[in-house]
Amino acid sequence: MTGKKSGKWMWSACFLGLLAGVPAQDTLHSPLTIPLQFSGNFGEIRTGHFHTGLDIRTDGREGIPVLAAQDGQVSRIKVSHRGYGLALYLNGGGLTTVYAHLAAFHPEIESWLMRRQYRDEEWQFDGKPDSTFQFSAGDTIGWSGNTGGSFGPHLHFEVRDARNQHPINPLHWSFSGKGMAEDPVPPEFRGVWVMPEPGGRVEGASERFRWTAAYAEGVRAAGPFTLGVEGFDRLARDAYIHGPYGVDVWFGDSLVHSHRMDTLNFSTNGDVSAHIDLPAWQDRKARVHRVQRLPGNRLDIYRNSARETPFEVAPDDSVEVRVKLLDVAGNETNAALWIWGDSLPPLDDVSLRSAPLDRRKPHRLNVGEVIVDLPANALYSDAVIEVETLDSALFRVASEARITRSDYTLTTPVPEAVSGSGQALVMCALGEEGEVLGTWVADERNGMLTVRLDRFGVFEVRQDTAPPILGSPVIEDGDVIIPVMDELSGIARWEGRCGDQWLRWSMDKGILRYRLDDGLTDGKEDQEVKVWAIDNVGNIGQTSFWLRDLKR
Ligand SMILES: [Zn+2]
Repeated sequence: MTGKKSGKWMWSACFLGLLAGVPAQDTLHSPLTIPLQFSGNFGEIRTGHFHTGLDIRTDGREGIPVLAAQDGQVSRIKVSHRGYGLALYLNGGGLTTVYAHLAAFHPEIESWLMRRQYRDEEWQFDGKPDSTFQFSAGDTIGWSGNTGGSFGPHLHFEVRDARNQHPINPLHWSFSGKGMAEDPVPPEFRGVWVMPEPGGRVEGASERFRWTAAYAEGVRAAGPFTLGVEGFDRLARDAYIHGPYGVDVWFGDSLVHSHRMDTLNFSTNGDVSAHIDLPAWQDRKARVHRVQRLPGNRLDIYRNSARETPFEVAPDDSVEVRVKLLDVAGNETNAALWIWGDSLPPLDDVSLRSAPLDRRKPHRLNVGEVIVDLPANALYSDAVIEVETLDSALFRVASEARITRSDYTLTTPVPEAVSGSGQALVMCALGEEGEVLGTWVADERNGMLTVRLDRFGVFEVRQDTAPPILGSPVIEDGDVIIPVMDELSGIARWEGRCGDQWLRWSMDKGILRYRLDDGLTDGKEDQEVKVWAIDNVGNIGQTSFWLRDLKR
């Protein structure tokens, strides 16, 4: 393995030149007042998506000033208890920069937003403000937080092409202000996965084989196989591991795989599940970049004409596989192994009990009372799907595909015990220990339940009769807070009033919060405050209290 550096400016200059129409602004202002250190980079593999920005560390705390990265105007404000939490979008110079999981916005935005929320009687918001908020690079636009789907304080920062909102790798820009350290650390190579196709064997067995440099100079393969590359990157000063910027793979003399994390597209970002070896990720948390491209993979990150077919090395022949990992700073790491052709006879493949379904065609599987409707192109590649009724409420839709590219529908009979209640039912995806991994809510129709699913596995029809539970209200830092929790279907909406007055209750990570600073309860100490939470099947939980009774 070797390390080499070719200079970041060359990559960046080449790359920015490709973004026709985007002004060649090669520096952004740092979005934070502290030196930039990262807990996540652009293009790293997450469950169901590539990460579309940088996760910037905030010293484990909230409330660090967040600065405008370029001159611009606020183009979108988003307030949600999910996803980006409190997020601000700034448009300028052909770019949109996005700042997510904030604790608070700039005071002028906060007061505009509060008026809007009270007008609409709705805390959640997503849209372009009807006032103009203009900022210069380096201005404070908000404060860092931990809102939405964030588990630990940090700033999620994105750079997008303003025209189509496609996210771009922010490390193609350098940052002024308290910027980031030089990155002299090359990516780390972990291994090459050699994965036998049906009938093939690697090191004598039909399982995936993870080759590392410590093992031997190569592996023996009989019959067809595919390859995957495991490796990561470290950015200078970081304890965290990140995704590599690029991976190149040669099989003999031919470049068979080359990808770069320059831009992504939200409409195809879920195809990360086709880019990686899904079983390695789901079963072993290993991030393995597939060399062969699955036919349904729509990602636009590949530089060569993507190879779909497996490799094969004839007995007594050998082929060298070379791997190059790159980071944005221009550091690279190289590794190589031999694949030695093995003369073992092909294995009878026992896993294929029926023929794979052609992914380009729609399919209807009707097994007993269960119906699976698979639209054309719902799979990334041809796959076998098996349907089984385990008991009256429990169904298995099994496939080596594990997930789908687009939704399919599953229709099952509703078990008698929960039938005819008139209330919506919940289809639960169950894990190996029976834990609920996901829920889909639907109405019973003619004794049947139909849901749109994005994965295969074991599913159970359940009834959700438990309303959300609201805990005791307490006052904390000038806010009234109420913990709220719901089993199964989850909280759909909530509302709180003092007399006729709607109160702006926010929600984050199961905590409802009303700021006494809003002033709407001033002088109403002896009026009752009522708070409701409604789950996704319509169960209503409620609590009420008098402000004068709360401990300060
Ligand atoms: Zn993030």
